[in-house]
Amino acid sequence: VENYLEKIEAHQDLNAFLEVYAHDARARATVIDAKLQHGTAGKLAGMVIGIKDNIVYKDHKVSAASKILEGFQSLFSATVVERLLAEDAIIIGRLNCDEFAMGSSNRFSAYGPVKNPLDTTKVPGGSSGGSASAVAAGLCLASLGSDTGGSIRQPASFTGIYGFKPSYGRISRHGLIAFASSFDQIGPFARSVEDIALLYEVMAGADNYDNTVSKREVESVQSAPEPGKKRIAYFRNAMESAHLDPEVRKASEAIIEKLKADGHTVEAVDFPLLDYMVPVYYILTTAEASSNLARYDGIHYGYRSANAHDLESTYKLSRTEGFGPEVKRRILLGTFVLSSGYYDAYYGKAQKTRRLVVEKTEALFKDYDLLFSPTTPHTAFALDQEQNDPTQAYLEDIFTVHANISGIPSISLPMATHSNGLPLGMQFSAAKYQEADLLRFVDTLV
Ligand code: GLN
Repeated sequence: VENYLEKIEAHQDLNAFLEVYAHDARARATVIDAKLQHGTAGKLAGMVIGIKDNIVYKDHKVSAASKILEGFQSLFSATVVERLLAEDAIIIGRLNCDEFAMGSSNRFSAYGPVKNPLDTTKVPGGSSGGSASAVAAGLCLASLGSDTGGSIRQPASFTGIYGFKPSYGRISRHGLIAFASSFDQIGPFARSVEDIALLYEVMAGADNYDNTVSKREVESVQSAPEPGKKRIAYFRNAMESAHLDPEVRKASEAIIEKLKADGHTVEAVDFPLLDYMVPVYYILTTAEASSNLARYDGIHYGYRSANAHDLESTYKLSRTEGFGPEVKRRILLGTFVLSSGYYDAYYGKAQKTRRLVVEKTEALFKDYDLLFSPTTPHTAFALDQEQNDPTQAYLEDIFTVHANISGIPSISLPMATHSNGLPLGMQFSAAKYQEADLLRFVDTLV
């Protein structure tokens, strides 16, 4: 704990932590130390973990990096937090992110951007940028993030670490501040597959507080069968995309060749629906977000405008002053696609397309065990890069959103280093609930 507290202090410029629980962490360390002496400590004894600021922890502040939750303290802990604590993990603080987990750069935080520790002129990715930056800089051993469309995997790729999004329905969302409820999943960041697997196993499994969690048994990763030879698919149109950095393509091709040389079957498949992924994702997630964020009304939680004088102005001014630009854009977009006259044209169509993606994905995993792609088309971009066109930023999510649209498990792990010195991640996904096989397989690659 002292080691991490020192590092956090020394790396304040990264702006990864929004709050550090130094006193709590020291007190817990003493208790766990005694448990260790008595041989009664849990599976995560002494593991120092940071949590994204959209996961609630009883009697601690939580803000989703938004001004609208300013001063709000949680009355309860998320199921994942309870499970980590029950195994004697030490929670060292809450980590910066894009406001309400909307973004890919961590520049949409009301508390300022996070820096990439590998190159502090670059973004760490987002929305779980603080979670990635903290682990990459060694400010904690592991961290939790949330992934609605890549927010764990993309920052893991940008910072050269491991980030895992389990199947939808594997880990309880109880206590996760909702962005798009049918896409959101909590998952770990770490510097080894082993730590990812350990955290996943502790957090996964049925929860009375979240009915969307499957009652299926959580298979132990360690006791999953030897991986053997795999059938691996990749999307031909993804690799041919003009949008892909040529070095990312080359590194991916090298991985494909290596997998083949190792005796796996690797094949290009056509997936015409790839072009619809980003539009489907942004229509459905903004629709869900517009509904989920209706609760921030200036009355129930956190921030209330000092200029409000009646009910209407309380809503209007609190929301106008409390939400940042990206969140407003998404609420507007989501409200638009759900409004009468446009519902059939956008929301209804996107739902149907989502169903097609799910069916085609299930069909794909009848013929293949795994799906491979680069995690992102480019490496981390400059912190001060102008961002005039939000759709340009949205297109960068092309490879990650598929796993959330279809609910499958997906991991990003280091693939190569670009000639610009920044890391590139590779992504492997598997059929729904095959996380044990997936993790076992990627462990053979490192
Ligand atoms: N970049 C995506 C978005 O902005 C992903 C966000 C996430 O996974 N929370 O919506």
